[in-house]
Amino acid sequence: MTHPLIAREQLYGAHNYEPLPVILVRGEGVYVWDDAGKRYLDMMSAYSAVSHGHCHPKLVKALQEQASQLNIVSRAFYTNKLGAFLERLCTLSGFDKALPMNTGAEAVETALKAARKWAYTVKGVPTDQAEVIACAGNFHGRTITIVGMSTVPQYKTGFGPFPPGFKIIPYGDAAQLEKAITPHTAAFLVEPIIGEGGIVVPPPGYLKACAEICKKHNVLLICDEIQTGLGRTGKLFAYQHEGIQPDGIVVGKALGGGLLPISVFLSRKEVMDVFTPGDHGSTFGGNPLAATVALAALNVLIEENLIEKAAVQGRYFQEQLKRLRSPLIKEVRGRGLLIGIEVDARYPARQICLKLLQHGILTKETHGSVIRIAPPLIITAEQIDAVLQACKQVFAEAEAELRLR
Ligand code: PLP
Repeated sequence: MTHPLIAREQLYGAHNYEPLPVILVRGEGVYVWDDAGKRYLDMMSAYSAVSHGHCHPKLVKALQEQASQLNIVSRAFYTNKLGAFLERLCTLSGFDKALPMNTGAEAVETALKAARKWAYTVKGVPTDQAEVIACAGNFHGRTITIVGMSTVPQYKTGFGPFPPGFKIIPYGDAAQLEKAITPHTAAFLVEPIIGEGGIVVPPPGYLKACAEICKKHNVLLICDEIQTGLGRTGKLFAYQHEGIQPDGIVVGKALGGGLLPISVFLSRKEVMDVFTPGDHGSTFGGNPLAATVALAALNVLIEENLIEKAAVQGRYFQEQLKRLRSPLIKEVRGRGLLIGIEVDARYPARQICLKLLQHGILTKETHGSVIRIAPPLIITAEQIDAVLQACKQVFAEAEAELRLR
């Protein structure tokens, strides 16, 4: 029988997700607990939004203190909190200016608007002719414009027509970028590692080559760091593995410290200055509660060495996963603590996730055949070992079912 809580959610909620059958009631650090008190190790981190761990005490404290002071006033007024957050973010990232929004998709939309207006007002592209290049297999969010750039049929089917002005090229091949650029190209929007599309790491040198091509043709390079950013891959931002500085980036998810939806578009001054009052905005973007939490989230990231931890533990996790050597594991790939296990098509990745759930490991498949391993960056070697132990058992069970052993 379906649990009454699940039945109620299904009855009154849209069926736009297919959650695993677990009802979560509490979280602390890398752990979450269900309604029966069972503890799980969280390898999902809410699609990388909980990099700091669940209910980080410093972040909860910052939220609670600010919540009793001032929360939402809109950008019709200045506050005593927004500037400090923006300054910290710009100083850390090396960008000149930031525009705060809430969700990742909103930050991507902001970047697209900035790129188009920059193309018209700075580059000199004729009115309404600007093009943005994106990659096959991308995931940048769910708005009509953004799914218009998607190459996943399900994301698009039934939702057209889509805005024009986008071109799709294969991921990981810089020569294709140069070929696709025209005098009307405003920007190239790219994930440094494709996240939702299956944790796809491009060949070394790809982003560097793209940066050079963009510079040569006066095209903005905009990196979507919503999933890869803020330490997840072992650097503050994943593009830093290639020693480049894009013209703009979008950041979200972990910026909210696992507590609130907070996103930003960051860029050079020349790009951000295309926005004038009234061009763009958000009722909630940059509110003092969000600014306080995001500033605390950035501080914790640095003070607790979460970036370095992600690099070290990520290396260990990947090495050990590769050692599992199950015939059902086609590949283990990723960077830092953004890891994908590609499962042989003979066994549905969702079934592996359901088995892992029984073993107290929370994760979710992405793209049908890839199991995502993206824990909070505070994960310890002992906790990684517990996940490895469960993976070993689960793959052995799956192999036995397929009579592979
Ligand atoms: N961009 C990337 C790379 C993402 O992974 C996601 C979400 O998974 C988004 C954008 C969209 O973010 P949101 O769901 O907050 O709109």
